[in-house]
Amino acid sequence: MATQKLDEFPRYPLLFGPSPIHPLNRLTAHLGGAQIWAKREDVNSGLAYGGNKVRKLEYLVPDALAQGADTLVSIGGYQSNHTRQVAAVAAHLGLKAVLVQENWVDWPDALNDRTGNIMLSRIMGAEVRLDPAGFGVGFKPSWERAIEDVQARGGKPYAIPAGASDHPLGGLGFARWAYEVQQQERELGVFFDTIVVCSVTGSTQAGMIAGFATQDRPRRVIGIDASAKIDETRDQVARIARRTAAMIGLDRDLRDDEIEVLPGWEGPAYGIPGESTIEAIRLLGRLEGVITDPVYEGKSMAALIDLVRDRTIPADSTVLFAHLGGQPALPAYVGLFRE
Ligand SMILES: *Cc1c(COP(=O)(O)O)cnc(C)c1O
Repeated sequence: MATQKLDEFPRYPLLFGPSPIHPLNRLTAHLGGAQIWAKREDVNSGLAYGGNKVRKLEYLVPDALAQGADTLVSIGGYQSNHTRQVAAVAAHLGLKAVLVQENWVDWPDALNDRTGNIMLSRIMGAEVRLDPAGFGVGFKPSWERAIEDVQARGGKPYAIPAGASDHPLGGLGFARWAYEVQQQERELGVFFDTIVVCSVTGSTQAGMIAGFATQDRPRRVIGIDASAKIDETRDQVARIARRTAAMIGLDRDLRDDEIEVLPGWEGPAYGIPGESTIEAIRLLGRLEGVITDPVYEGKSMAALIDLVRDRTIPADSTVLFAHLGGQPALPAYVGLFRE
């Protein structure tokens, strides 16, 4: 069985256990269509509020330790959830972290480079390098410079790309998520025919697609692009899904129709919420007491709301919203919610 193939890859446990799954009853009643449930990666770990990157890092950590690395080096925007999770994992393991934080988002909040995720990374002792970004082609990416700096001072860096996606092991964490869902479905007596998940660097959705493809019962994994670069997101998801599927022993090619990434809810740009993002954040907060963020989950939740309302997800469906975390960025968006 394919699960056994995945089990051949070493995994360093960083999560509490299986992340919780629960119904969103008031949202379901409000929309009057498909049954809606959530699986909560935002509470999956005790490491700095957890999130989807901690789950991915379970498969990168054994590789880093095997290489004798003493410093995790990674990159993201100022309010990157990913780099905050790298900082937490480094602290947990007694390693150092060097984080290149680029100015990916033109967001006017004066505290953008001081509060939220970046503050948490500093609290956890990471070396945070603010990079105003935008240096032209020909320059080495700033994170390669960071890697060289670690080497120059006698350290052993382990490079983790943005979102831990463009890494050979990046898709495995969410391939395992697919088996975890299957196990939880048996316990709960439900079947989720549709998954809704936010996609940017791609290995979260890609891992899910690969994992579910090895299972008997087909289902739909709908990615919601939050990068505002739909073609790149689709390519990234397709590439990582195919690589991960081969690694975990899928004995066929993934079909193109299994790679479903939808545009339409990305807002004006990556990191900037649209009106539908803010409405979705408010609606879920008020109906369920569940918090989502303006960069990622508010966008995938806005999509879920529309897709359930317009019956793209049929009324007899049971849909699972993958809540991937992201709330620690909210303090950088204080201007949005003043009433
Ligand atoms: C990184 C992240 C995503 C996107 O996941 P990818 O694997 O990069 O596609 C979605 N939501 C949150 C909260 C994230 O931190």
